[in-house]
Amino acid sequence: MVVSCEEVWREVSNYLDGEVEPGLRIAIQEHLRGCKHCTAVLDGTRNVLQLYGDERMLEVPLGFSQRLHQRLGENMPGNRRNFLGWMVAAAAAVLVGGSIEVARSSALRGPKRRSEQAQAGAGVPPDMMVVVSENGKLFHLAGCSFIHEKNKLRTVTAAEASREGYAPCVRCMKKYVANG
Ligand SMILES: [Zn+2]
Ligand SMILES: [Zn+2]
Repeated sequence: MVVSCEEVWREVSNYLDGEVEPGLRIAIQEHLRGCKHCTAVLDGTRNVLQLYGDERMLEVPLGFSQRLHQRLGENMPGNRRNFLGWMVAAAAAVLVGGSIEVARSSALRGPKRRSEQAQAGAGVPPDMMVVVSENGKLFHLAGCSFIHEKNKLRTVTAAEASREGYAPCVRCMKKYVANG
């Protein structure tokens, strides 16, 4: 069986849950072996799953779009599959849209980058999803009460936020920021 990238994305949350049939599972594994995009999507989805396990992070997708916020309102609590499906689609769009670099960056980042990042966001995991507002200077965990302009949020990785010049919010990033 040969599966396309789109099929992998559609099944990725089931795949992580161990809920795909064995034949499909093998096909996905084989696809992942040769496809960096889908490997990145899989990693991203795994992160989302971890975040999702933490109630405080339920607002993570807020930065993706208002539309999702509405969907969360409609679907929550309980419709985990739709929620994940949307997240995967969003993650796939972001990754395949040219930010594959983000997924790779933690592994391939050179010494220069590392020191830049140490300045901006020491201790914050570079692939953690954070929220930035358009005119703000800080990046936050979703749901932080110090986020302003809640209608202009974007969700990006901490590495990306640092690269764009955002600094970690000392309130919600306390546990990551050594001297916060
Ligand atoms: Zn693929
Ligand atoms: Zn904050």
